[in-house]
Amino acid sequence: MTRAGFVAGNWKMYGNLVQNQELLAAIVLGIPSLQNASCAVCVPYPYLAQAQSVLKGTHVAWGGQNISQHHQGAYTGEVSAGMLTDFGCRYVIVGHSERRTLYGEDNQMVAEKFHSAQEQSLVPILCVGETLAQREANETEQVIARQLDAVIGLVGVNAIKQSVIAYEPVWAIGTGETATPQQAQDVHAFVRNRIAAHNSEIAADIQIVYGGSVKANNASELFAMPDIDGGLIGGASLVAAEFISICFAAQ
Ligand code: PEP
Repeated sequence: MTRAGFVAGNWKMYGNLVQNQELLAAIVLGIPSLQNASCAVCVPYPYLAQAQSVLKGTHVAWGGQNISQHHQGAYTGEVSAGMLTDFGCRYVIVGHSERRTLYGEDNQMVAEKFHSAQEQSLVPILCVGETLAQREANETEQVIARQLDAVIGLVGVNAIKQSVIAYEPVWAIGTGETATPQQAQDVHAFVRNRIAAHNSEIAADIQIVYGGSVKANNASELFAMPDIDGGLIGGASLVAAEFISICFAAQ
């Protein structure tokens, strides 16, 4: 891997103060440093202060799992990008398939969230990916092209440079079913080529990570593929030993 590796944990709606403290402390202890790789955990909003307090000054960054596309206003229950930066966040996930499916986020809204994140100097982790039905209908590339083009269309390709792209096939998220390294590599190469059509330098530099049932025992073979630069990790990021070992696999 010529690009630096990157691994982010997506805690989803799991955790509590006591468990988080244990998990964060174990991660910090287990990852004193990484060679040519970095890592982060994306925690539920109420635990951002806890993440900041434990992780500040360590090699583990932190972030949120979603933001509003708006800066401020009468949007009950929403959280803005600026609020995340108040808690020292470096990253925010945008367009996770659970947000797209369960909360009706469409490509345009995800693009606006991406823009909003960057306006506050957050690094968006942009999730793209197809459902099983779309894969079976041979629509994977069209779906991902639409998801990607909506963002590039709004922010321009230069802005993409300051982001991470996560290919997450919906059928592999939380299912225990992982894309084969070759299946994932094919889509990662497609994403990189699509960006290269705008700017080959940005395409060569951008980190594209894979998400979907990545575990300690399959991370190395996935990350060994030429266009897979690390992972976005759900379930396994809640187990310190698993997450630590996945982070080391991205070196
Ligand atoms: C995710 O939530 O982004 C994810 C990839 O989940 P899991 O690793 O559990 O499949």
